[in-house]
Amino acid sequence: CGIVGYIGDKKAFPILIGGLKRLEYRGYDSAGVALLNGSLENYKKKGKVSDLEDFIAGRADEGSVGIGHTRWATHGEPSDKNAHPHVSMNGDFSIVHNGIIENYAQLKRDLETHGYTFESDTDTEVLANLIEYFYLQDDEITSEAAVQLALSKVVGAYGIAVLCKKETGKIVVARKGSPLVVGLGSGEYFIASDASPIAEYTNQVIYLNDEDIAILQKDGFTLSNVRNNPVSLKISNIDMEI
Ligand code: GLU
Repeated sequence: CGIVGYIGDKKAFPILIGGLKRLEYRGYDSAGVALLNGSLENYKKKGKVSDLEDFIAGRADEGSVGIGHTRWATHGEPSDKNAHPHVSMNGDFSIVHNGIIENYAQLKRDLETHGYTFESDTDTEVLANLIEYFYLQDDEITSEAAVQLALSKVVGAYGIAVLCKKETGKIVVARKGSPLVVGLGSGEYFIASDASPIAEYTNQVIYLNDEDIAILQKDGFTLSNVRNNPVSLKISNIDMEI
């Protein structure tokens, strides 16, 4: 349903929570955040964003790279375990996802034959594990290449933001069918599923196109296409659209 993300020098947690509150108007059943802070911290809870804050109770104070989500359940009932972010089986990836992975059942069976087990009933956890599966197959592979490989197997709609425990200065985002906006700050980037959480920080945004995949680092932004097709990058001004 709603996605937010931040990478820069500020503390990510208050920005993520503020962003999730701006997305509450869309409706949701659960909420969560993940932060890269030495390790990969993951917190999620059925209920309101304020319930998530109570649950976290000061534990997510550090960390300048993070993602957050409000979920509107499509696969699996609203519950703590089905809330996002979803962490891959070996703990290398945390992802938030809007949309539906239509071929998740087949992908899940394929992953089970490779020893993967699942904690939730969601289509999203399948994608988290598929990304990790490709990542662990190859010592040289980057997280964005693993995301790209996983997405090339996916049928369905997605807006995703991905953290990798071993690549701590990076958020990988991609979309198809579900919107994603990147906000351009100075030495910082914002992500959201619509511009409302970004507008208080920057006017400059990029609306990702279908099958765009972007790597956000504190001091750089790289855009490519899931199928290696050419990409077009257009910076828009939020003011002009309100
Ligand atoms: N299909 C995913 C789920 O059920 C994402 C739902 C959403 O867009 O919030 O968990």
